[in-house]
Amino acid sequence: MKQNRLILAFTLGIFAILSTYSNNLNAQGQAKTLKRIVIDPGHGGTDPGAGGSYSTEAAVALAISLKLADYIKASIPDVEVVLTRKTDIFNSVVEKAKIANAAKGDLFVCIHTNSDDPHAKRDLIGYTTKTRYVKKNGKTRKVSVQVPQYKVSYIPSQAKGTETFIYNVDKSDQRKEMANDAVGDVVEKLDSVSERQIKEINTTDPTRSMMASLLTQQYFQRAASLALTIEEEFKNAGRLSREAKQRQKGIWVLAAVQMPAVLVETGFISNPEDEDYLNSELGQNQICEVITKSLIRYKNSLENQKKSNAN
Ligand SMILES: [Zn+2]
Repeated sequence: MKQNRLILAFTLGIFAILSTYSNNLNAQGQAKTLKRIVIDPGHGGTDPGAGGSYSTEAAVALAISLKLADYIKASIPDVEVVLTRKTDIFNSVVEKAKIANAAKGDLFVCIHTNSDDPHAKRDLIGYTTKTRYVKKNGKTRKVSVQVPQYKVSYIPSQAKGTETFIYNVDKSDQRKEMANDAVGDVVEKLDSVSERQIKEINTTDPTRSMMASLLTQQYFQRAASLALTIEEEFKNAGRLSREAKQRQKGIWVLAAVQMPAVLVETGFISNPEDEDYLNSELGQNQICEVITKSLIRYKNSLENQKKSNAN
């Protein structure tokens, strides 16, 4: 809740700055409305993502993403949808970012499922007698001790519900480090992408530099507003919301795309109840309805903003 207010305060501050510069942004050809959405089904192929008791994150994310594309086409027909994958294939985050940027998307939506480790539970099942040797006053004595015996079992985590993440833009210098952490084998490619992006933002031309940083802030503001809307709609639909959050680790792809970007954790695949929901027709439909509804609200707010700027 505190975090939400913080995001909101930051968002409003940026909005004030952006309104001042909105004419310049338009002159740069900045799209003011939503024309093309890139949907990124998390993981895939050799990377199954988190595992449930009978399904994988990659499969669930793909099923929801394909359905979401249909929902958007039906409900917002003037918006084009691009998917970073349509089958069970592996795309590195670099490839995903390249697809999104080449498509010139106005919004990037990653679909994932959350996961939490099972908790170890220890049950006392009895005692065994063991012999120990104790030294006392220079003499060694043999003693019998009772040692408790435990049976360790693992119970699934109770964590459940939804979470929507945006990338924290404040620490762009940490991007490279984060990228290294997130994906070991594509570090080299990632370096070239992230360095180029940082260079673009820190360009020596003061006007361009200002525009680039305003653009980054605008992406952040839009992503923050959409993330808050998505979690609000999840709540309206009766889901347990773990709120909209900012993160850096593991979501490098959100920073690599040149458009507002959110990552939706649609539920916990590690939770038996959530896993059933995520795999069900009803659950997937509800998730797609929530996200589509949020996208409509987001699109309307961009259009209203454009109208009020034009006046
Ligand atoms: Zn994931």
